[in-house]
Amino acid sequence: MGGMIRFHNTMGGKVEDFVPIEPGHVKLYTCGPTVYDYPHIGNWRAYVFEDLLKRFLLFRGFKVAHVMNITDVDDKTIRGAQAKGVGLDEYTKPFIEAFGRDRDTLAILPADHYPRATAHIPEMVALVRTLLEKGFAYKKEGSVYFAIDRYPAYGRLSKINLEDRRPGARGDADEYEKESVHDFALWKATKPGEPFWEAEIGPGRPGWHVECSAMSARYLGTTFDIHCGGVDNIFPHHENEIAQSEAANGVKLAHYWLHCHHLIVDGEKMSKSKGNFYALADILAKGYEPSDVRYLLLSTHYRRMLNFTFEALDQARTARQRMGNFLGELKDVAGPAEQTASVEPLIEAARAGFVAGLEDDLNIAEALAAVFTLIKNANPLLVRGAVSKDGAAKLAAFFKEIDTVLAIDPKPEVTASGRIDPTLNVRSAELIHTADALTLEIQEKVAARQKARAERDFARADAIRRELLDMGIVLEDTKDGVRWKKAGPPKG
Ligand SMILES: [Zn+2]
Repeated sequence: MGGMIRFHNTMGGKVEDFVPIEPGHVKLYTCGPTVYDYPHIGNWRAYVFEDLLKRFLLFRGFKVAHVMNITDVDDKTIRGAQAKGVGLDEYTKPFIEAFGRDRDTLAILPADHYPRATAHIPEMVALVRTLLEKGFAYKKEGSVYFAIDRYPAYGRLSKINLEDRRPGARGDADEYEKESVHDFALWKATKPGEPFWEAEIGPGRPGWHVECSAMSARYLGTTFDIHCGGVDNIFPHHENEIAQSEAANGVKLAHYWLHCHHLIVDGEKMSKSKGNFYALADILAKGYEPSDVRYLLLSTHYRRMLNFTFEALDQARTARQRMGNFLGELKDVAGPAEQTASVEPLIEAARAGFVAGLEDDLNIAEALAAVFTLIKNANPLLVRGAVSKDGAAKLAAFFKEIDTVLAIDPKPEVTASGRIDPTLNVRSAELIHTADALTLEIQEKVAARQKARAERDFARADAIRRELLDMGIVLEDTKDGVRWKKAGPPKG
């Protein structure tokens, strides 16, 4: 079933046909949590995107070997443990447990391996030794640094400007800004009060980047198919992973690099000081279902900024419930219909649209649109009683099939009296496009743009159009007025 799968490869910046190294098998590495705090919804956006990717590959019949690291030693975990006056293990344990709990709550398929950095120090030491032996690394004051000058391919992924770097500049921080391209620490000399490991390269502890290079090689081999992360991993983390791995092993680290865009909250960067910082539990405490959150996180294309708002979450819930109520209606179909309409063509069209959408760089808007079109077209048949019990079963089976990818488990919304909530009844008049219901914010922007156009302030009208595009909304001016739709993947 289906055609060629295409993904946007950050390496090269183009959408490419996906061809795995070994036919039928996909080796997938996704950068995992740094367990210095509870995961927040921005983290979950990336993990839900990776889960959609993995589930779609499984749906298409691939076997997927998936590895996700747990970074349990780095600058942040060490700082946190020191501040609390406890050991690293004791400090990271509750965060590792919370990660596993939330992952299961969000119906994210577990990886095959969750290697912990602290359990793979020998692999990291061996990698650093190789880099020293091959001349890509040097020692300085007990630490070992990667010499980016000796690795001419540095910077290909992020396309950073290497000209700005100061020769010989070094940095020990695991995370650093784009402005400061410099040699980075592979192995950090032991400092008072910090955990360290005795090693032939000297007592110390690994840098963050070397952890992923060593553990991906251990579990997936030196070359694998897909490497994922958030856009903020591109530089320096993934750039440095590539440099370490490819310099040491002499082979390409990963064939496809997929990066998911940021999540913002109410149009702003999430931060604890602004009070817009949410862990999954904070949202569930407000009465939402985990699948509402999952639906919202997966329903914006992964390469677009996701603006998390409770309005958007309400819409996600409504969309999911409409699917659920449709399934509830199907259960009510009793016997053979008098004038049975064939539902197979509708199902086939929906499946084709769903698959074609996801094949196109995980164009989830198109995939979901195909599903809601099916509901829209099947609904009048249900109302007329033209769907047989067999037809209803086939429709229900289709939803079960696609839920292996979406994993939102749509269920009818029942009221206290045990009836399907009539306000969400799929037979009600304004049924379907609630998946794309306009938020108040979008409505206001569309109106403001109309006003600007009426006032011939085209610069302002254009600016609003661009703002909407940033929110993933495309406007089309037709002779019947303005239409809008959810944007697919960004071009290029
Ligand atoms: Zn990583």
